[in-house]
Amino acid sequence: MTYKFLTATAVGLVMATGSFANGLVGIAMPTQSSARWISDGESMVRLFEEAGYKTILQYAEDDIPNQLAQIENMITNGVDVLVIAAIDGTTLSNALENADAAGISTIAYDRLIRDSAHVSYYATFDNFKVGVQQASSLVAGLQNRFGDGPYNVELFGGSPDDNNAYFFYDGAMSVLEPLIAAGKVVIASGQMGMDRVGTLRWDGAVAQARMDNLLSAHYTNTPVHGVLSPYDGLSIGILSSLKGVGYGSGDLQMPIVTGQDAEVQSVKSIIADEQFSTVFKDTRELARVTVGMVNAILSGTEPEINDTGTYDNGIKIIPSYLLEPVPVDGSNWESILIGSGYYTLDQLK
Ligand code: BGC
Repeated sequence: MTYKFLTATAVGLVMATGSFANGLVGIAMPTQSSARWISDGESMVRLFEEAGYKTILQYAEDDIPNQLAQIENMITNGVDVLVIAAIDGTTLSNALENADAAGISTIAYDRLIRDSAHVSYYATFDNFKVGVQQASSLVAGLQNRFGDGPYNVELFGGSPDDNNAYFFYDGAMSVLEPLIAAGKVVIASGQMGMDRVGTLRWDGAVAQARMDNLLSAHYTNTPVHGVLSPYDGLSIGILSSLKGVGYGSGDLQMPIVTGQDAEVQSVKSIIADEQFSTVFKDTRELARVTVGMVNAILSGTEPEINDTGTYDNGIKIIPSYLLEPVPVDGSNWESILIGSGYYTLDQLK
């Protein structure tokens, strides 16, 4: 009985995954310093293995030469497909030349790989919408906590070498620009534009230092009401800076601070009423889409694509699948994050 059952399951698996089920997938991730990339890696390894693939998963700790060496090693090790979340999306052109010469296809994972013709597909979230959601949450929070305004706000951007950072910023500014023009949102420092507000390597310590400077240069006589932060790791630094000068205690109300990735520490901060919001991107779904792309490449079929116009990498428009980001704040974290099984309640206590 048991034997028959196992055989049937094994046959089903082989049929479902086809002859490429023995393929080897090289997965290059940027860093383990942020939990989201750890879940991305774990989900991909699990789903690829369930589909019969073998995987090599490597993290480069935000060091570009390290990531390049890891990718070259994967090529030498004979991977069939590369799945890459780039540290700097402009540095991979030579590596992908080598991959292509060895007959290896590449999928850009979450972050666009620029300046290369050898990118087959791009699996990501609607990055412009992430920015829209961050700024919409900021504005709703400002109205709620500080009434009609005008509101003093400071802007933070992501890493200038990450294509996503521009999409987040542009999405956010599509909401904020009309309010700035109307005098409802005031950027007291005057610092706007990715060249002035970008945060290299998404480094929380850099954001904290910049927030310290902004506070001492522009907010000694007037309070800051909101901070647009594009990533939870920056929000943590920004919140430390704010708390350091007394925000969140006495008369100084905590400014509205946004985020992204629904990282555990930031969800805890939302529950504790410090960080105002984040954006949840279900990395399990991103992994599922990516496995579908690899299946298609190796079986010579077409994967599911829902965007063929947005992501020009400087050489060509990369066919993409964009997943939906979900805004999360104190009102819905439980239904979204626990309800979807992404976290258990215990993890957030
Ligand atoms: C990702 C974000 C993440 C950021 C920092 C971006 O490319 O899309 O989800 O917050 O990198 O790791």
